[in-house]
Order: sequence, then C-alpha cells, then structure tokens
Amino acid sequence: MKDTKRFQRAARLDRLPPYLFVELERAKHALLAEGVDLVDLGLGDPDLPTFPEIVEALQAACADPATHRYPAQRGDASLRKAIAGWFEARYGVSLDPEREVLVLIGTKEGLGHLPMAVLDPSRVALVPDPGYPVYQAASWLAGGEVVHVPLEPELGFRPDLDRISRATADSAQLLFLNYPNNPTGAPVDPELFQLAANLAHEHGFVVVNDAAYAEILYEGSRVSLLQAGGAREVGVEFHSFSKTFNMTGWRIGFAVGNAGVLDALAAIKSNVDSCVFTAIQRAGEAALSLPEERVGEQLEVYRRRRDVLVDGLGDAGWHVPRPHATFYVWAKVPTGEGSQAFATRLLREARVVATPGVGFGPSGEGYVRMALTTPEERIVEAVDRIRRIL
Ligand SMILES: *Cc1c(COP(=O)(O)O)cnc(C)c1O
Repeated sequence: MKDTKRFQRAARLDRLPPYLFVELERAKHALLAEGVDLVDLGLGDPDLPTFPEIVEALQAACADPATHRYPAQRGDASLRKAIAGWFEARYGVSLDPEREVLVLIGTKEGLGHLPMAVLDPSRVALVPDPGYPVYQAASWLAGGEVVHVPLEPELGFRPDLDRISRATADSAQLLFLNYPNNPTGAPVDPELFQLAANLAHEHGFVVVNDAAYAEILYEGSRVSLLQAGGAREVGVEFHSFSKTFNMTGWRIGFAVGNAGVLDALAAIKSNVDSCVFTAIQRAGEAALSLPEERVGEQLEVYRRRRDVLVDGLGDAGWHVPRPHATFYVWAKVPTGEGSQAFATRLLREARVVATPGVGFGPSGEGYVRMALTTPEERIVEAVDRIRRIL
C-alpha cells in the first residue's frame, strides 16, 4: 500500500446525532428480503398519485424549450404571482410576489438552509420536541445551539412559550413552529402564533412556521402565522406541494413572509442552488389552480383511513387520539415499553412498521407515529395484526 493520507470528515458532521433506527431498519429490510408482507405505516409519503392535471401541465411545460434554461433565482415570476393569489384567497393576507415569496426546492431544502441565513454560531435555535428532525440538524450544521421546546401533551402538543427563560430567548435568533404538527397531528392555533410573534418582537428573533400540512385539515379553519399581528415583521411560513398534491418526488415548495428573512435565505440559495426546473414550477402553478374540492376528496380518503385505524385500535383496547390534522396518528405506547422496543415488537410480531417517537426528540419517547399513507384495506390488516399481539 502506498502511504496515502485519508480524508477526514468535517467536524460539523459529529454534531449530528447518531441514527437511532439502525437495528430497526436492519430488521425491517431482513424481513422484506425474506419476502415477509409488512404493512408500512412508517413513512409519511402519500401513496396516492399526483393529480393528473399537474402531470399534464409538466408534460406540456417540458416540451417548451423556454423551460430548459436556468430558472429565475427566486422562482418564476408567474408562479410567485400565483402563490400570492393562492395565499390571499386562503388567508386574506396579501403578499408582494417580488419580495415576500420565494420558491424552494421543497420545504425541506428551505428549512435546511434557513439557519445558515439567520443563525450565528453559538446563538440559539428554539426547536420543538418532538419535531421534524431537519430543524435541529440544520441549526447544528450552521454552528448554532439547539434548545428544545417541549410540546406539552396537556396543552394539545403546543409549547409553553412562557417557560423559555429570558436569557435563552435573548440568545435565540430562530424559533421553529410546525402547525399542523408532525408528528403529533396537533392542529393550528392562532393564539400560539400570536404569542410567538410577540415573543419574537420582544427578543428580536425570527419565527418560522413549517406549514407543510396546511391543507391536511379535517376540521377547523386554516390559519397562517402571517395572520398574527406583527408576524410579517418577524415571521416566515414554509409551504409545500408535497403533501397537499402528492408531489413528494417533484421537489418544490415555497416560503412567504418577511422580505428581509427571505432575502437572507435567497442570498444563501443563490450561492448553492439554482432553483427548481421551470417546467416543474409551471406544474406547481397548475396545482395551485386545482379546484379545492379535488384536494377535499383526498382529505376524505385520509379521514376514512384515520377512523379505521383509530376505531380499530380502540376496539382492540389501544385508545389513541383522533388527529384533527395531518396524516399521522401519534399514539402512546400501550404497554409501557420504550418506543423503540415497542416498534421492534410491532415489526417482528405484528409485521407492522411504525416510527418510534424518540426519533423526533426526547419528548417523543413513549410514543409511536403511524402514517395514513397506505390503502384502507392495508390499515384494516394492520389493525388486525396489532390486535393479535396486544
Ligand atoms: C414532509 C415534511 C416536509 C418536507 O416537505 P418537502 O416540501 O417535501 O421538502 C417539511 N416539514 C414537515 C414537517 C414534513 O413532514
């Protein structure tokens, strides 16, 4: 062997937590390799296809050579206008499409880059626990410190913002919220948005609402962070096409809100990416112009699946709350086992895949998350299998 120097992974990668589910994943793949039939309630990735109108819009758009060149850096002007129109129709908030709308390569991309734009090394990002893991990973990668804000079951899985100390709030540059909430299924709450906006003003930080599930709402009305008084001076909201229109593979989303924050994010993005294929942006425009009933029909599919799962588990003696929003059921482990041990037993004994709650943060311990992105008859089958091991 020649005497060569090995490369060294950047130290910042050491800040990322170890992947907890190595064993569980291995067990799942071993069973799949044996041809075992698993009901997968693990991943939140819609099984229903993208609406055909959107697919047709992409087909037409990609045949137009005008879409083949580099996209506009902040997103196609025509899509940004459509986003502003869609947002105003839903929330009554009128946005300047030039300054208050930014097209993203999916919400995850925008959330992943945001800390680099507004969080300095050693300053604090307030991150919900349990929560979508990108918030903390991106904050760590930007060199920031993460302070978990527990979502209190007694408060309907909302954070008690009064419990954040003054010193922590003063050190904070960023607060992440995510309503409707993954993984708990908690709906939006206008009061929480107002409190968060007030706190952000008082301490001079940015408040973000990840609204990826804004349209997956079974009851109650839609609420945006930007409707809260003063929120547009301190807040941005991230929206996705992925869950609403079954477009997880397409990679398109958008951010709306404070122009300065979006400028900072756009400054990062202009150095590392070149926005979304223009043809996909045109398809996104078609998505936003779909009649609301189309998305509503799909919501009925999720509602039936939710009821089949919640009622079925209840009959089996496992009483789990019925979520008002999102396609997740967040269930307390009924046996007192840890969330990983229980998920492992669900896998081995019931052949059902669920996500251990601890993967979403320490406060997720004692829970599992089950996604409704699998056909109703498979959910019936899952309930049957779970019943037998309880
Ligand atoms: C699925 C999901 C996203 C990712 O959305 P993309 O637009 O596909 O990147 C963002 N936030 C939450 C909470 C999610 O569950």
